[in-house]
Amino acid sequence: MKAIACVSGVELLMDYLEGVLSADVHTALDDHVAGCPRCAAFVASYCGTPRILREATAATLPAHVEASLRAFLRARTTAFKPRG
Ligand SMILES: [Zn+2]
Repeated sequence: MKAIACVSGVELLMDYLEGVLSADVHTALDDHVAGCPRCAAFVASYCGTPRILREATAATLPAHVEASLRAFLRARTTAFKPRG
């Protein structure tokens, strides 16, 4: 098992974070990230992104937009209700 050099490309880290790598590669990356501030910072910021996006979205959706969106979805849901 060769040691992984500083993650050579964001794609490998993305695969790592999505858990699609084989177990041995994942373990090797675990070891690397644990000892590499640069990669650790990337992982930390990547993992924080969904929360940041959620907060940004919540903050920019005006109440009246949310209300009309809910009304629209409710109407659609009713329209597509199976006959019974
Ligand atoms: Zn690194």
